[in-house]
Amino acid sequence: MPDVQKIHAVLKSLYPDALCSLEYEGDPWRLLIAARLSAQCTDERVNIVCVPLFRRYPDAAAMAEADVGEVETIIRPCGLFHTKAESCVAMSKIITREWGGRVPDTMEGLLSLPGVGRKIANLILGDCFGQPGIVADTHCIRLCGRFGFYDESLKDPAKVERILSDIVPREEQADWCHRMVLFGREYCTARSPRCAECPVREECAHPAR
Ligand code: SF4
Repeated sequence: MPDVQKIHAVLKSLYPDALCSLEYEGDPWRLLIAARLSAQCTDERVNIVCVPLFRRYPDAAAMAEADVGEVETIIRPCGLFHTKAESCVAMSKIITREWGGRVPDTMEGLLSLPGVGRKIANLILGDCFGQPGIVADTHCIRLCGRFGFYDESLKDPAKVERILSDIVPREEQADWCHRMVLFGREYCTARSPRCAECPVREECAHPAR
């Protein structure tokens, strides 16, 4: 098992800010919408699409009254636009009518929203409410398999979340996932990882690819 503290220390020095690559201006509802749009889409594209989307619908109350077809037209570049538009409007209705316009700050509350699974819920809990949570997205699953925290064939987000929740310090869990995205982009890309220059090579179970 690689030393999670050593890997964490290196990644923290490389990426001290560990900012979420989705832009949401500190507004939990905006992060919720952006995260829903990011399924099978790049964060860069989501950020572009969210500019006109949030201009037209600045908060949950506005989105709750939206025509789904109109939302579809704006978010079309993100793909899966029909189901994404439906869940954006539906979750905004629930937030407006049942949560007083505020995004719930519990796992149970977040999972009650249409289109929200544990990955998005953990992202919101960590980034908006300062709670521990592992966002087991494709970057995190792939990289932590390469490090050797589990078998590389493991792709089940729920199992990865459980494993990493036990080994990554609670106060670092939210930032851990953002650092995985940044590290995967800079060093450990899926196709051609830069193992010779990798700063965590000594801790990696699968170097020199
Ligand atoms: S040594 Fe290579 S495979 Fe391992 S983490 Fe670094 S870049 Fe990725």
